[in-house]
Amino acid sequence: MKKIISLLAVAAVGAGLMITQAPAQDLVAISMPTKSSTRWISDGESMVKEFQAMGYATDLQFAEDDIPNQLAQLENMVTKGAKVLVIGAIDGTTLSDILAQAHEKGVKVFAYDRLIRQSPDVDYYATFDNFQVGVLQATSLVEGLQARFPDAKPWNVELFGGSPDDNNAFFFYDGAMSILQPMIDAGDIVVQSGQFGMDKVGTLRWDGAVAQARMDNLLSAFYTDKKVSGVLAPYDGLSRGIISSLKGVGYEPGDTFPIVTGQDAELPSVKGMLAGEQYSTVFKDTRELAAATAKMVDAVMKGQEPEVNDTTTYDNGVKVVPSNLLIPHSVGVADIPILVESGYYTQDQIDN
Ligand code: BGC
Repeated sequence: MKKIISLLAVAAVGAGLMITQAPAQDLVAISMPTKSSTRWISDGESMVKEFQAMGYATDLQFAEDDIPNQLAQLENMVTKGAKVLVIGAIDGTTLSDILAQAHEKGVKVFAYDRLIRQSPDVDYYATFDNFQVGVLQATSLVEGLQARFPDAKPWNVELFGGSPDDNNAFFFYDGAMSILQPMIDAGDIVVQSGQFGMDKVGTLRWDGAVAQARMDNLLSAFYTDKKVSGVLAPYDGLSRGIISSLKGVGYEPGDTFPIVTGQDAELPSVKGMLAGEQYSTVFKDTRELAAATAKMVDAVMKGQEPEVNDTTTYDNGVKVVPSNLLIPHSVGVADIPILVESGYYTQDQIDN
């Protein structure tokens, strides 16, 4: 066989032809935290499409919210010769060792959506404006309270935070509190439980069942003779747990249901909005984030400067990671058509 190939090569050269082997495609490895929330599946799939269209090979893995699993997958990716790691971290502080090894081999490291903390070996960060997400959530909560319960001031509101090992959760909470704290100080909003701060209101691994259990406890401890007017929920999966808890003690979906916020425009929550349960969500177009990340990676691979628009906000404890922040959008029931017009969902998906 070898002989035949070299004979062919000689023949080709003899005939004035150059045999050029197709260059090996650079491998971009994509590590997403979990499949339990649909957004990460779309993130992963959109990136595969973008990178393949640019001529890269891809390796997409999901870590099922298990830190050792994500570490093992990353090690394997580096061993396979990945030139780039794009990582949506489960716990942003656990990756330092593997990233150091990767950097030693010249692998470029991109934090995707969630900042990777306590490591000097993070090159760039692509995400949405996370503080603004919290601002949008609280703004819609307040608008909902004003519209639905104009005469029930002060409003009883409970606060939920995301996973304390996810840097984003602090940005969402701080963004929301930038709107809510002045109203709490003015006495327009009361948190009957007195539970404030990410150490009290955080929800490990963004687990809806954990949020539901906490809401059950809050309702039985503080709301046997009072009504809840609203709940700050940072993610649709938590919102649905909270809504189940509220329905469980007799709150009826519709015009008197407490205002519950959310994030990610997950299909079950969009349906819940139409059913008068969830009040709003925040739409972050994962296709845009995937495309922006792919463009950044491609620029770096070509030795160019990638697009960044923030070089001050995302201090990971060791360095400020240059970031590209995309714009999140608040979505109320009247804005649902945006999700269809932009092709994020089909009308059929929403209706059925
Ligand atoms: C993401 C959110 C998501 C949450 C739970 C955060 O890091 O930014 O979009 O709702 O994780 O998956």
